[in-house]
Amino acid sequence: MQINTTAGAITPDQLGRTLVHEHVLAGYPGWFMDTRLPPFRRADAVSRVVDSFQQLHAYGVRTVIDPCPADLGRDVEFVAEISQRSGITLICTTGVYTEAFGIPYTFRHLETSAIEEIYIREIEDGIGATGIKAGLIKIATGDGAVSEYERRMLVAATRAARATGVRLISHTENCSCGHDQIDIVTAGGVSANHLLVGHCDGRDDHPYQASLAARGAYVGFDRFGLEVFNSDETRMRNLRQMIDAGYRDQVMVSQDKVNCWLGRIPGVGSADDIARIVPNWTMTHLFERIFPRLLEMGVSQSDIDTILVENPRRFFAD
Ligand SMILES: [Zn+2]
Repeated sequence: MQINTTAGAITPDQLGRTLVHEHVLAGYPGWFMDTRLPPFRRADAVSRVVDSFQQLHAYGVRTVIDPCPADLGRDVEFVAEISQRSGITLICTTGVYTEAFGIPYTFRHLETSAIEEIYIREIEDGIGATGIKAGLIKIATGDGAVSEYERRMLVAATRAARATGVRLISHTENCSCGHDQIDIVTAGGVSANHLLVGHCDGRDDHPYQASLAARGAYVGFDRFGLEVFNSDETRMRNLRQMIDAGYRDQVMVSQDKVNCWLGRIPGVGSADDIARIVPNWTMTHLFERIFPRLLEMGVSQSDIDTILVENPRRFFAD
């Protein structure tokens, strides 16, 4: 199995320590319409993001998946530049976001087979004219129910995954719809262990988290530091429960950190406001505060190594 990165293909053995869900840059649809904002200065943004990726590199992280969907300001050349200058291997995705928070207009008017074709093109030929190939497909569902649009996007993603062999990585909300995602993906002939169900740490819900793992999917505890949805204490307790329940080999961790926001976050404010609300939400938070605390809680270094290195490797290899 070869994995597309912004700098060419690698094998699963080359991943090393991997964070599976971090954003180099992202912006909500229409961010550029708020023209009161200071203009986006690309060079400043690059140097800021390179700095935080270098700090992550110092903790031994070698690979980061940036699952930015095509409709949230995805800029794969920006991502490639961060990789080149920080020394961290970066993997981009094809795919789209939820109906409520994405840009569904164009894709709503395309046949499912056309969406599938677009995804396959972005995996096999590259994204736009960049030559940079997507390494996974992002799928996304909203809170509580899968809309017709989202279902169709999941079906297209599943067909493209089946045709190309690439893995699926998901966005979920409030610990819901993970089972719908597994249903759609497996009904399309892709096995559950080729899906990483994201944001399963959105609330205190061990039965939900364990039930996804029981079906064979990988379970993302990928929002450490983002304590607006759930506390890190709860996340760590739930992670410990997964290990105790025998699911250590199916969890992966990350922070969902957005290193560079395009525009404001609707209903929240600017990037500075976010930094005040969730001060621990940084690229090195797992290493500075979470892993040391997990060790105190009786999780072993070998458990952490498995979660950081072996699980991502197996996700792509098996
Ligand atoms: Zn994300």
